[in-house]
Amino acid sequence: MPRKVAVAIVGGGYHGLSLAFNLADRGVRDILVLDAGYFQGGASGRNGALVRGGFSSVEWTRFFGHSLNLWIGLSRKLGHNVMFTRRGYAIVAETDRSAAMVERALKVHAAEGLRSVGLDRAGVRRVLPAIDADRVKAAIHFANGGTAPHHAAMKAYLAACRERGVTVRYGTQVTAIERTGGRASAVWAAGQRIDADAVAVAAGAHNPDVARLAGVELDGAGMRIEAIAVAPMRRTIDPGIALIDRATYLHQTGRGEIVGGCEIAGEKPRMSLASDMPVMAHTARHLATMFPSLGAARVLRQWAGQVHVSSDFGPLLGQHPDLRDLWLSAGWLYGVAGAPASGDLLAKAIVTGVIDDRMAPFAVDRRRRNRPIVEESTVNLEH
Ligand SMILES: Cc1cc2nc3c(=O)[nH]c(=O)nc-3n(C[C@H](O)[C@H](O)[C@H](O)COP(=O)(O)OP(=O)(O)OC[C@H]3O[C@@H](n4cnc5c(N)ncnc54)[C@H](O)[C@@H]3O)c2cc1C
Repeated sequence: MPRKVAVAIVGGGYHGLSLAFNLADRGVRDILVLDAGYFQGGASGRNGALVRGGFSSVEWTRFFGHSLNLWIGLSRKLGHNVMFTRRGYAIVAETDRSAAMVERALKVHAAEGLRSVGLDRAGVRRVLPAIDADRVKAAIHFANGGTAPHHAAMKAYLAACRERGVTVRYGTQVTAIERTGGRASAVWAAGQRIDADAVAVAAGAHNPDVARLAGVELDGAGMRIEAIAVAPMRRTIDPGIALIDRATYLHQTGRGEIVGGCEIAGEKPRMSLASDMPVMAHTARHLATMFPSLGAARVLRQWAGQVHVSSDFGPLLGQHPDLRDLWLSAGWLYGVAGAPASGDLLAKAIVTGVIDDRMAPFAVDRRRRNRPIVEESTVNLEH
């Protein structure tokens, strides 16, 4: 374990590794990533693998559009195959309200130069032949969206970090963050103090707890998300899909499994890795309702993961307003999609002090300043 580093990063999921890689790529040496768990033990190894570039708000679309472009070139940048597949991504609306949101989103995409198209009924049948098209009122298709399985992409990030001299240690919890003269100055792990010029927190669902180690508060809380995998079948669905009114997402993996999940209303433990029967039953019902041919399929597996969601469900990216040199890559609900951009733009901010326009709206103190971002197209019941 080093005694002194330039940047100590708490958390070795997508966001910790993406930040470490981008810092190293900008010439920073002595970067340490510490993770309490095992490689891919957090949400970064438990997700739906969907990469979406366009949303309904200008802020999200700019940020995630940039991230999508980075995903497309990521294998070359890392020197390892992340297996990003441009199979497309579709947002499906079944109500007048969500259809109106789709129309607004399409205007945002056009203004931002994002390649998306609105689908009429015939278009829905062409892009999603297995869907019950009579239920669909409007849809958006992104040709460039797709999937990136974490077994490949996380492995690629880790290998690229290590090749650039980043020290990454799993099974090593950060237990304290020291502050000196209004700045974060050291972390404690494995009973040892490590001086740091800067500390970055990318601890997923535990972000608020880790921020508290430094004596500061962070907007938001942990939340559980679940997914199921359905037994492999012949190619039925090409793009990744968000069924917006059902708070449901799905895609078909390269192995032919349908992986999807949904949110259901009602009280449930927010911080638990237990999966439960009602979520599985609802997910199965939504999938079989919208894709009748899935009705006969068997559920193979079900699992849960935990993420950190902010009060407006957007990422929290930048320096903490109450503590200099404490940086956050937090609040990731769409953290697979956003990982390349978060590392790129946060590393730029740490190294150069320049806050990129695409990152600025996601400032950590926006709730305090009463500047929430209204994003209507996430697969999320609570908004
Ligand atoms: C079921 C499910 C489906 C999802 N589907 C999608 C999807 O299709 N598309 C998409 O874009 N996003 C999806 N997500 C969200 C995405 O997976 C997350 O946003 C993303 O993985 C978050 O990455 P992270 O690096 O912030 O956190 P994590 O991957 O959770 O990593 C945080 C790490 O911090 C470590 N840590 C915590 N406390 C400490 C400490 N004190 N000291 C040291 N280490 C610590 C943990 O061990 C953990 O490894 C999904 C999530 C789930 C659960």
